[in-house]
Formats: sequence, C-alpha cells, structure tokens
Amino acid sequence: MTIAIYPGSFDPITNGHLDIATRAAKLFEKLIIGVYEAPNKHPLFTAEERVELVRQAIVGLPNVKVESFSGLTVDFARKVKAQAMVRGLRMSADFEREFDMAMMNKRLFPRLELVCLMANVEYQFLSSTLLKEAASLGGNINGLVPEHVAAALRKRVHSKM
Ligand code: ADP
Repeated sequence: MTIAIYPGSFDPITNGHLDIATRAAKLFEKLIIGVYEAPNKHPLFTAEERVELVRQAIVGLPNVKVESFSGLTVDFARKVKAQAMVRGLRMSADFEREFDMAMMNKRLFPRLELVCLMANVEYQFLSSTLLKEAASLGGNINGLVPEHVAAALRKRVHSKM
C-alpha cells in the first residue's frame, strides 16, 4: 500500500491545506495528516483541537486520516510506514525552507520521498498566521477555511480579546 504523510502545524487547517490533502489523496492509497504538536510555537489551538478541526474537514476523504505527533517528522513517517511525505509549496514563501528541510530529512531517512504539490493559485497567499491575524482584527475569513474552522477561530480570538 502506498502511504504518505502530510505533516504541518495546521494551526488551524485552511482551504489551502485541504486543497493539498485532497489532491495528494488521489496520488496515494492512504494519506495521513500529521499534526505537529509544536508547543514551542505557542499555537492558538491545542494539538487535540487541531486534530479535531482536521478530522471534521476530511470527512469526505475516506483514505485520509489524521494523527498528532511530536519529535522528528521522519520518525513519524517511519512509525506509520510511509514511503512519501507531501508538502505544499506557495510561490514565494516556501521553497528555500522546504529545500533545507528536505536535505536534512533525506539524511535522516533516505528512503522517504518528498512530494511537493504547488499551491493552488487561489490560496497562494493564504497562511494560518495571516488568517489568525485577519480573524483577530475582525476580518472576513469566509472562503479561506471550512465553516467549522471559521467558527472555532472567531470563538477563540474573541475569548483572547
Ligand atoms: P509548517 O509549520 O510545517 O509550515 P503549516 O501548517 O503552516 O506547517 O503548513 C503545512 C504544509 O502546508 C506546508 O508544506 C506548507 O507549505 C503547506 N501550506 C501552508 N499553507 C498553504 C496554502 N495556502 N496552500 C498550499 N499549501 C500550503
């Protein structure tokens, strides 16, 4: 079985992430979205909350699963027996960072192939960070995240204000 992981912070999952997951799900028999716990990044949502937001977003994708992980991404890949790792590439922001990480991961786990999918033009400038900023300032985030994520974001930024 071809298994791929799609790791990230997903704080929270956006339509850009979902677009990558939907496309990757057509390439692999099983795709596991790995929610990196990332406590040092002080995420807005806990790992459990992020996993739940992802779970609700992928109900229509039967071969996509979600799990949280901590530690090295390559160790998570080994644990779930993945042959490939999927990442999304936005035009300006991602290439250099992904390249560096890919070189390191290749040393750590040579058999794991990296598959980068180009971000959809609609979501090129969408990041979880910008999204949280817009939401906290009362901006309209419709169309950028699934409805349940928008609701969770509004609730969370209000409780922090
Ligand atoms: P990380 O902390 O690893 O960057 P993110 O949750 O921000 O985690 O992103 C996870 C993956 O999704 C990364 O490969 C990132 O480049 C990609 N990604 C983020 N936003 C988008 C988007 N709008 N369109 C496509 N891919 C994206």
